Amino acid sequence: MSAVLVLNADCGPLHRVSLRHAIRMLFRQVAVVHEAQPDTRIGVYPVPTVVRLVSYVVTRWRRGRGPAWSRAGVLLRDGRKCAYCGDSASTIDHVVPRSRGGRNEWLNTVAACGRCNNRKRDRTPAEARMPLRVTPFAPIWAVTLT
Ligand SMILES: [Zn+2]
Repeated sequence: MSAVLVLNADCGPLHRVSLRHAIRMLFRQVAVVHEAQPDTRIGVYPVPTVVRLVSYVVTRWRRGRGPAWSRAGVLLRDGRKCAYCGDSASTIDHVVPRSRGGRNEWLNTVAACGRCNNRKRDRTPAEARMPLRVTPFAPIWAVTLT
């Protein structure tokens, strides 16, 4: 609930942090408030819902522990390319469909174009005969923002 979205200096979304973490970033002046809840304050700060980094950080995906799963994160990780056909992707697909217990996790989700997503439906890639071109992985941010 209190998670705060962190934007890069160019307003590209990076990841979410706790409210406490966000306040610490404001205090250390590495970030500024981008959007805040109306009429609430923590000390001198409005309660942020979105903060923006003061300086741009170069981010690279790597394997290992990383940020919490998000749809936007999956698209970013996969370079907005469909995992099935390589076209530009705007949706995410569950490798093991949600109707079969597949979860919103990095390793079970890939970027997909609307066409492939419709075609695959509630099937696994093997059942749909739609092999994955990429192996989903759990990203970490190369630059830590703590
Ligand atoms: Zn596709």
